[in-house]
Amino acid sequence: AHSLQEFNMSEMVDKIFNTKQPKDRLNLTLKNDVSETLMVKQDKRVFEQILTNLIGNAMKYNRQNGTVKVSAMVTAHELAFAVKDTGLGIPSDEQDRVFERFYRVDKSRTQSIPGTGLGLAIVHDLVEQSQGQIELESQVGVGSTITVTLPLQ
Ligand code: ATP
Ligand code: MG
Repeated sequence: AHSLQEFNMSEMVDKIFNTKQPKDRLNLTLKNDVSETLMVKQDKRVFEQILTNLIGNAMKYNRQNGTVKVSAMVTAHELAFAVKDTGLGIPSDEQDRVFERFYRVDKSRTQSIPGTGLGLAIVHDLVEQSQGQIELESQVGVGSTITVTLPLQ
């Protein structure tokens, strides 16, 4: 069941930026490149959960003085948005697996970073239920970009 709502995406990104903790721990630069005038019509709770998980990961798995950037683009039929980080990156042979429930990359690397390994599995399901697509691009030691494309409602 959908509950469509119109909302300002840039404001939502700012709100998520401000409620996530590792910003201070890692001295991150948070860039909100979403147009201040972009109004999005989606299931607001679903959309917020997707964004919260992706931004949370981008901040958690970042490095000291790193950057998180959120951007968005609307075409005739789609809304595409990306969360890009300068963090640890994900090895190519694990890039499909991070969408599985409870999968976490290299336990030793992330054991000091709390998490259950469910966030991306939930995001993947929500995007699929919305007839959207999700794409991960990542390089170890450089960073990751996750792009989500959702049909316009
Ligand atoms: P949860 O989100 O449930 O609190 P989690 O963050 O460990 O826990 P996921 O969000 O599903 O779980 O991510 C799965 C794993 O993928 C993470 O444990 C981490 O190893 C890796 N990962 C996810 N996002 C990133 C990222 N932006 N950069 C580097 N590694 C990432
Ligand atoms: Mg997570």
